[in-house]
Amino acid sequence: MGERYCRECGALITGRADKKFCSDMCRTSFHNREYRRKKKEVADVNSILAANRRILEELSEKGIALLPLSDPRMQSFCTSHYTSAEQKGKHTIYHCYEYRYMIKRRGLTYFCYICASESTKRD
Ligand SMILES: [Zn+2]
Repeated sequence: MGERYCRECGALITGRADKKFCSDMCRTSFHNREYRRKKKEVADVNSILAANRRILEELSEKGIALLPLSDPRMQSFCTSHYTSAEQKGKHTIYHCYEYRYMIKRRGLTYFCYICASESTKRD
């Protein structure tokens, strides 16, 4: 069997065949770092979604439903992050919390089309 090295410090591991760390201290610091990394990843995605939602909210409040993605107001809008998506015929409707939008292309320009709020349709 090959030699095994600690996943945290790289030291040679002795003892049980399934050991991944040389000590409890290394195991703990490895898992603590993993926990912090995952927590940061979730926080990063949440802040992107919150920023997208803020943009959609501001545009909706101003009654703006159609805006090119190249518009400065869309500069920080991240089209790869949304809370869910639905297929309506050949269109994909993206959801960002309570807001719904489509990405439409006209010629060489991509637009964000904000769909009317569905909140009034709910029973
Ligand atoms: Zn170690």
